[in-house]
Amino acid sequence: MADHYEVLGVSRDATPDEIKKAYRRLARELHPDVNPGADASERFKMVTHAYDVLSDPRQREQYDLGGQGGFGGAGGQNFGGFGDIFETFFGAGQQTRGPRSRRERGQDALIRVEVGLEEVIFGTHRDIEVDTAILCETCHGSCCQPGTSPVTCDICHGTGSIQRAVRSLLGNVMTSSPCGTCRGYGTVVATPCVTCQGQGRVRARRTVPVDIPAGVDTGVRLQMPGSGEAGPAGGPNGDLYLEIKVRNHDVFSRNGDDLLCTLEVAMTDAVLGADTTIPALDGDVRVELHAGLQSGEILTVKDRGVTKLRGTGRGDLKIGVQVVTPTKLSSKERDLIQQFAHSKKAAGPALSHFQQGLFARLRDRFLG
Ligand code: ZN
Repeated sequence: MADHYEVLGVSRDATPDEIKKAYRRLARELHPDVNPGADASERFKMVTHAYDVLSDPRQREQYDLGGQGGFGGAGGQNFGGFGDIFETFFGAGQQTRGPRSRRERGQDALIRVEVGLEEVIFGTHRDIEVDTAILCETCHGSCCQPGTSPVTCDICHGTGSIQRAVRSLLGNVMTSSPCGTCRGYGTVVATPCVTCQGQGRVRARRTVPVDIPAGVDTGVRLQMPGSGEAGPAGGPNGDLYLEIKVRNHDVFSRNGDDLLCTLEVAMTDAVLGADTTIPALDGDVRVELHAGLQSGEILTVKDRGVTKLRGTGRGDLKIGVQVVTPTKLSSKERDLIQQFAHSKKAAGPALSHFQQGLFARLRDRFLG
């Protein structure tokens, strides 16, 4: 077990001044700014921890209690078997837990992907560049220089934890804390891989091919298992999540699986009827304008919307009609319209409730 007095190289009855001097001498020698070695950095942590404990009179007293006699003999009282009671009170396994593994699962990653509305209709493919962590090619996740391996920590003897007796209301109880030298791993990487600095993984840019399914909408998250960051020390990859944002389109908008647009129709076409072709996102669509077409009518073209994300088939293309009244007339045109007005005695303007129809909502979408 690590002995704080040995770490600082002082005797057990050292005065506070001797302890302080010993710490300063070692700190000057091992401080990471002076001594960049990984070994020195670990020793520096040990020395600092030892000093933290021994420079505090209360902590030093507790440490002496545990450090000298251990569990059973502390203070001359026999606490043999207390560990069982402790476990009963505070949950089993705390003291028997072995060293923890360096291998951990990598983190999940979240990437935002913007796609055009036209890509959403049938789905699309993207090669997405991700800044991530990948397995170190040099050590293959062992964290050690090739040909070397981790050595058993000689402070905790491979258990990963340090037992200490602490005085409490219940008497002296053993507490267990992670070994500061090996950080609870039970082993120390004496010669870390230089490529990854002993992490077992390196940062890299990776290309992830992604098939974005048809029908996705803004806010949808796609999970790609195992495409996240590689874990430390050869641990499994986390997952990659793609959060979709669908770009707004100048003409077409979306309502569920339906695509919406507005078509301006000349007054004469609305009166007489006409055939027209509109360039939809997935190619031309022939639209028949029937005679007597009204502003606010919705023309539905079946199955020309977005492919459904779940289920089968496609939504519809819905075309809101806006009849355009001519504003500039030649005198001849004006005469013709007047002749029409005389021949057909039209009803005067009629008052009714303000229409909150689908067309009004369509228009709001564009204005909004
Ligand atoms: Zn490596």
